[in-house]
Amino acid sequence: MSVPSDTRTRHDKHGRYPEATTVEHFQRNLDAVRARIEAACRRAGRDFATVRLLPVSKTKPEASLRLAHAAGCRMLGENKVQEAYRKWEAMQDLTDLRWSVIGHLQTNKTKLVARFAAEFQALDSLRVAEALDRRLQVEGRSLDVFVQVNTSGEASKYGLAPGDVPAFVQKLPAFKALRVRGLMTLALFSSEAERVRQCFVLLRSLRDRLRQSTPVGNGLDELSMGMSGDFEIAIEEGATVVRVGQAIFGARPLPDSHYWPGETSTGEPQP
Ligand SMILES: *Cc1c(COP(=O)(O)O)cnc(C)c1O
Repeated sequence: MSVPSDTRTRHDKHGRYPEATTVEHFQRNLDAVRARIEAACRRAGRDFATVRLLPVSKTKPEASLRLAHAAGCRMLGENKVQEAYRKWEAMQDLTDLRWSVIGHLQTNKTKLVARFAAEFQALDSLRVAEALDRRLQVEGRSLDVFVQVNTSGEASKYGLAPGDVPAFVQKLPAFKALRVRGLMTLALFSSEAERVRQCFVLLRSLRDRLRQSTPVGNGLDELSMGMSGDFEIAIEEGATVVRVGQAIFGARPLPDSHYWPGETSTGEPQP
């Protein structure tokens, strides 16, 4: 039996996006991704301008990032702090390039994030919030943050359990250098669109409930959800930020279990 295309994610494309090696490749890939975003917005009756595309450059060399910048990218997402910091240092000449850290952070690395990042999307502990806030005060900077939520229930994923988010968010106004923008999630990594969609629905309903029930929740505008294989579904469910790597830069050489913790012995320690 054949499966209708809209019940499948595009995760089967993983590892098959060709490497972008020229500015023209980046322009073409960005155009293609924007066309997919527009189509998803149209289906959902949403305004294209309400979805921000965050290109994700993790594992890619500086030369690729420079091509992406030349093609118009002005903010790049990286999931490992030290790699991001190294790239930021090497590309100080690109004064209009900003950085979003989208991966789990240990307290001993908050110093680096406070120094260079414009945005941090993986806040999931008070210890990190506190350390970041302190470091930011020292640097005289502030930071846009997203609270990461584990919507898939997988033990291997970072993020707060949905039930823990309201109490956590209540405590964040104490950290004056953090501007809480919204929630972020990584959906279940599956070819079944419906199971992936449930993760996005959960994040949206959580944000909507927080908005109604708490003064702090009023500032929660953003939903960062969706990546190369599933961002159309995320947009249909309300994403305001989609984090797209491989569809812009090309496939990464190693499977995602290598970059995300938990699935293999090469992952970082469990939270
Ligand atoms: C790598 C990564 C993405 C992008 O994934 P792609 O498959 O390259 O689009 C999105 N979010 C996070 C947190 C990531 O680490």
